[in-house]
Amino acid sequence: MLYKSIVRSHFDYSAIAYTNANISLLKKLDVIQNKALRIITGAMCSTPINSLEIETCIPPLVLHRLKTIERFCLKIIACNNRCVLDRILPKQQLPQNMIGPYVNAGDLLTGHFPELLRIIIHLQSHFVNMYKSNELPLYKLKYDLINTSIELIPDKVYSQNQLLEFLETYPDCYKIYTDGSKTTNSVTAAYYDSKQKITKCFKLDSDCSIFTAECYAIFCALSYLNEIVNSNSNFLILTDSHSAISAITNNSPKHNVNYLVYLIKHEVYKLKSTGRNVKLIWVPSHQGITGNEVADTAARGKPDEDHSASLKVPYTDYYTHITQAQKQLWESYWNDISQVKGRWYREIQKTMPALPWYHRNHLNIDQRNFITTICRLRFGHCRTPAHLKRLNIITNAACPHCKEPEADLNHLILKCKQFNLNRLLLVDELITASENDSDSDVPENLQTILSNPKYFKAIFNYVTKTIELI
Ligand SMILES: [Zn+2]
Repeated sequence: MLYKSIVRSHFDYSAIAYTNANISLLKKLDVIQNKALRIITGAMCSTPINSLEIETCIPPLVLHRLKTIERFCLKIIACNNRCVLDRILPKQQLPQNMIGPYVNAGDLLTGHFPELLRIIIHLQSHFVNMYKSNELPLYKLKYDLINTSIELIPDKVYSQNQLLEFLETYPDCYKIYTDGSKTTNSVTAAYYDSKQKITKCFKLDSDCSIFTAECYAIFCALSYLNEIVNSNSNFLILTDSHSAISAITNNSPKHNVNYLVYLIKHEVYKLKSTGRNVKLIWVPSHQGITGNEVADTAARGKPDEDHSASLKVPYTDYYTHITQAQKQLWESYWNDISQVKGRWYREIQKTMPALPWYHRNHLNIDQRNFITTICRLRFGHCRTPAHLKRLNIITNAACPHCKEPEADLNHLILKCKQFNLNRLLLVDELITASENDSDSDVPENLQTILSNPKYFKAIFNYVTKTIELI
């Protein structure tokens, strides 16, 4: 965490300018990152870098740079920044070899970073339906419109009864429920007019985020209200999206890069200028609140209209694609390199974790010592006689306790006669740990034990009582 915010952020700054620098210069940055990873995990110098990266969930710097630069380029394209784009893009038609396969992990890590032109062409050809504008959405609006606020009323509606009680205080209000939905291949936005019993569902571009879907549902509801001629003067919009509400009610431009937020403000402004008023309410989803359930079902049902081409995708929604692509590159690199380096760790950590196992340490034990001990065991690079001999630090790999000639981790933890009594305790703790979960037997293999966080405490206790330092 400290490394990412204090050290790596400095590398990110102006990465676009130095990324094609000499490899030996870029390596200097890698050295700093590797040092940081060793400090985080308390690993020995001999530990392979690829294992360190996976354990801490911090990608190789070059992949991180690619992600940062792609995000930056996306922004340039979205802002239609001709100043920059005209300098980078060729005047004539694009050369054929520019289109097609883009980057692979092997090339990247051997120093073939794609040119800026290539990155921009790739992004332009992949994210066709992006919202582009020469101006920031904020600057397109009149000043009084920017400050148009939409009132959020109470924050405590948790159930159908509470909502009904609350709505009694607003008897004349016209209520519209909105909801957005995102599945693997479709994104939809829907609203439900509880007075006219009308639902409307719109299909959106599958690249839209759930946030965009929720905002679009609110926008459509507001445009619908603007069209109603003989309507009351007060409207209530009920949504289950916290993030949409906080974006709409927040007037700071820093937080609102999604242009839909400004479209919503515009609709609110139109309503207000004709003497009508809108208020927002947050309602929890899946709590049996009838209107919300109807909107939710509508959003999951068959769309009434297809807006996937007309609604342009905010560029920030593509960030997930970029992150995903970076992960895939990293994974393919790890799959290759772990055949050669860090094979012990690979046996323990078979898939890429989303977060490090020590993230939000829920294990409640002495943090630092615990994390470093377990990390070292998982890396297989620790102070066992066998490993120290391999590093030429000592000459004899025999066990100092029982004189077994090859004292590796397996021996010290599972076999050494000296610790038979402690091992009984270990087995006991492992059984208790496995009983907490259903249907699993205590593993007999050390690597299997080290692959599951529920056994970490037991193994840590054993190590501190026997070998003490690992
Ligand atoms: Zn021994």
